[in-house]
Amino acid sequence: MQKRLIVTIDGPSGAGKSTVSKILAARLGLTYIDTGAMYRCVAWEARRQGIAPDDEPGLEELCRRLKIEFQWTPAGNRVFCNGTEVTEAIRTPEMDMLASAVSRVPAVRRALVQRQRQMGESGRVILEGRDAGTVIFPDAELKIYLDADPEERGRRRHREQQQRGTAMPLAEVVAEIKKRDHNDSTRAHSPLQAAPDARVIDTSGMDIDQVAAAITSLIEEVDSHGN
Ligand code: C5P
Repeated sequence: MQKRLIVTIDGPSGAGKSTVSKILAARLGLTYIDTGAMYRCVAWEARRQGIAPDDEPGLEELCRRLKIEFQWTPAGNRVFCNGTEVTEAIRTPEMDMLASAVSRVPAVRRALVQRQRQMGESGRVILEGRDAGTVIFPDAELKIYLDADPEERGRRRHREQQQRGTAMPLAEVVAEIKKRDHNDSTRAHSPLQAAPDARVIDTSGMDIDQVAAAITSLIEEVDSHGN
């Protein structure tokens, strides 16, 4: 049996978590768990059903029935919500803000954290999110906290939006990033913060290959312990 290896990658929006997590998962044969996509699915389904982001009982019931599936293809990770493909639909600026709003609700966090623990428990996984190393797996073998200054993160998000053909003006993207940072780091439940034992990497001025190389060597180091 392979030994357990849980790697958590936390940090604010646009720090490079998704890009680097996907590279590392493919390179090292780890299962990638995108916890943010799960909050986005809750937001998408709440919008579809007309449930307000502060309606805790409504969201709790929604989470109980919600089926979230990830499907791997060579072209990328596809996401399905109650059987409907939402891969692109959950990435709009509207869903950015709505996901941040529903993620403040304790019943939503409880439901998703429970699923995320089950998904990661026995395996070799890389989990990306805001609370992966502080709440979901505080006993992870390796915890990374990726950061970058907000302007740099805004530019990265803006480029992604341009590639999808849904770009907002750069100044608005930066303003939304700052607003989401504020929401995510000041909420009462599981605020965005680095675990005390996380390795903090500031990715401003680094390219993605440099970030991936730095984390790969940290993973190899922890994974070889006790072998
Ligand atoms: O990572 P991503 O931008 O897709 O996450 C969308 C939103 O979901 C974040 O702004 C955050 O509010 C929330 N989230 C969270 N906890 C996680 C992952 C995401 O609260 N583990």
